[in-house]
Amino acid sequence: MAVTSSSMLLRNFSTVGRVAQSVRVTSRIFFSTGELIRVLPYTRSSRSICSTRAAHNEEAAAKATASVADTGAPTIFDKIIAKEIPSDIVYEDENVLAFRDINPQAPVHVLVIPKLRDGLTTLGKAEPRHVEVLGQLLHASKIVAEKEGILDGFRVVINNGVEACQSVYHLHLHVLGGRQMKWPPG
Ligand code: 5GP
Repeated sequence: MAVTSSSMLLRNFSTVGRVAQSVRVTSRIFFSTGELIRVLPYTRSSRSICSTRAAHNEEAAAKATASVADTGAPTIFDKIIAKEIPSDIVYEDENVLAFRDINPQAPVHVLVIPKLRDGLTTLGKAEPRHVEVLGQLLHASKIVAEKEGILDGFRVVINNGVEACQSVYHLHLHVLGGRQMKWPPG
């Protein structure tokens, strides 16, 4: 399975920028075509990690949902899956739904989610039983990139936890493309 084998490529940057009084660690996970998969642990104090205005909005959204973060409560994505609220669907199969983000951060910004959350409020909740669906999500991301014409350059992001600015607690992959991406990300 792609997910398990690719974990061998993980590069840990945890020693970069370490802060002595850091209190918590969270991670943003980026998959970019043409480069190694990177996991960037944040070691940080209680100060904000999101410094730009756009990131500040993202941080505010994440903090606004912090009280229900990871409780397993239903999310807006349940209504999208049930088609109770509309979404611009890019790809759908038995297990996965991909739809355009309501607040796009790139010309192409599609969210790829499992139809059955099965405890995957965050990637951090992943268990061995989730390996198959995690692979399906990555494969669906590739299908989305292909359908959107960005297969030669796209980024897949998973925000994990409040400190990584996750605001919806139903695992989702952001597929971003259609513009030049920057590195390092904010
Ligand atoms: P997160 O911040 O949790 O990584 O990403 C959640 C994403 O869901 C955000 O990019 C946000 O714009 C998107 N989002 C939130 N509510 C809706 C909605 O009702 N419809 C769609 N299409 N996207 C949404």
